[in-house]
Amino acid sequence: MRQFELESVEKVDQAVASQRDQRRDAFVAGGTTLLDLVKLDVMTPERMVDVTHLPLKRIEKLDDGRLKVGALVTNNELAHHELVKRDYAVLSEALLAGASTGLRNLATTAGNVMQRTRCPYYRDPAMPCNRREPGSGCAALDGINRNHAVLGTSNRCIATHPSDMCVGMVAVGATIVVEGPQGSREIPFEDYHLLPGDTPEKEHDLKDGELITHVILDAPRAGGQHYLKLRDRASYEFALASCAAIVELDGDSVASARLALGGVATKPWRAEAAEKALIGQPATRENFERAAEVALADAVAYSHNGYKITLGKQAIVRALRDATARTTATAA
Ligand code: SF4
Repeated sequence: MRQFELESVEKVDQAVASQRDQRRDAFVAGGTTLLDLVKLDVMTPERMVDVTHLPLKRIEKLDDGRLKVGALVTNNELAHHELVKRDYAVLSEALLAGASTGLRNLATTAGNVMQRTRCPYYRDPAMPCNRREPGSGCAALDGINRNHAVLGTSNRCIATHPSDMCVGMVAVGATIVVEGPQGSREIPFEDYHLLPGDTPEKEHDLKDGELITHVILDAPRAGGQHYLKLRDRASYEFALASCAAIVELDGDSVASARLALGGVATKPWRAEAAEKALIGQPATRENFERAAEVALADAVAYSHNGYKITLGKQAIVRALRDATARTTATAA
């Protein structure tokens, strides 16, 4: 591990002023991803700015019905907050499906948004990786790619986005608020993470000096909610395929639906075409299977991950079934 400077700040404007260049400076809070990567020599910041003392630890209901979540709210605090459990059950379930209790007590909302891929080649500086070292190649394309993505890939990178929380946030709808040298701005959650394309090293829409201060969740959506995560073991493991589903019924038919996928894509993945395919249709297994086909229609399999296309579809059908069951239970 290389040496770095460590600075602590108390105010947001101090934090913003302290950052000069994302390639050399880094904000650190829980450190549950960043410090691992620094120890592995994958991330090599020259300066880290400790933001744990910033006043960004509140969860507050806004007048327009949305929920404003401070960047430093921990994953466990968010998952167990009474309004999140009541109005955003799919997000609470997604958070609790991630990592371990100990890690969730440290990991923050903004840190989870900034989480890096678990691609083993990314985490090994001896291997070629376009995301870590642009232009060096992608060891996963012809390597062991069982855990890699089938949606949103490019011939430069096929790494899976690892977050459960972000999948839940795509389903409920959210906005990221950042503070930077030019003031504050808002970014729709779905636009924040970038597809790898030709520049996999550029993972998000954050400019030099910008700090995530809040995530604002949309006003609660009607309907039943469920997050299903399929993985190699029952806890402390990343998703092979996951699905966050919100289903609202009008009689026996789907009035509205939100579907987001994890474990199968290079970013938290909104399955919008599948949502549209459900609207107005009876909430039957046959129609859920049809929507799952639509959601994975553009999937591309590599040598070891073809099973994810089937698994992703199964995750969607089961999540829709269970979200629908909760709708019925709520209505009754
Ligand atoms: Fe790197 Fe992406 Fe290839 Fe993994 S899949 S080795 S992160 S370029």
